[in-house]
Amino acid sequence: MSGKKLTCFNCGQVNRVPEDKLMSGPKCGTCGARLIGGKAAEVDLKTLQKAARTDDLPVVVDFWAPWCGPCRSMAPEFSKAAQALAGKARLVKLNTQDNPKSVQTYGIRGIPTMIAFAGGQEKKRKSGAMPSTAIIDWAQDL
Ligand code: ZN
Repeated sequence: MSGKKLTCFNCGQVNRVPEDKLMSGPKCGTCGARLIGGKAAEVDLKTLQKAARTDDLPVVVDFWAPWCGPCRSMAPEFSKAAQALAGKARLVKLNTQDNPKSVQTYGIRGIPTMIAFAGGQEKKRKSGAMPSTAIIDWAQDL
């Protein structure tokens, strides 16, 4: 079977999307949530781990928290980058306050921190807030 495996960030179901459908707004067969496009989805630790392990498209995670000023100012930039990178990589956000275990699981030392997963493993990470253009540049070689 061909197609790209993509974990639904809403319900956790793994979908298989034909390559030629990646840019035409594919939706989850189980819950109907958009798999590509739109704003960066909020995920929990379990869904992130599944997507990082399974997905055929790179996943870029922004570890953030509501009390973190730089995180909040980066949020619209991250969303812009998510739209610009649609079809190339999927960008998601993980709230470290709601998912405290994630900090230990991924060895997060400060937020915001972005981690990019590709091919089932961590490819690279970067700490500190960045404008959308820098995020897009950073995600080019995933
Ligand atoms: Zn779903």
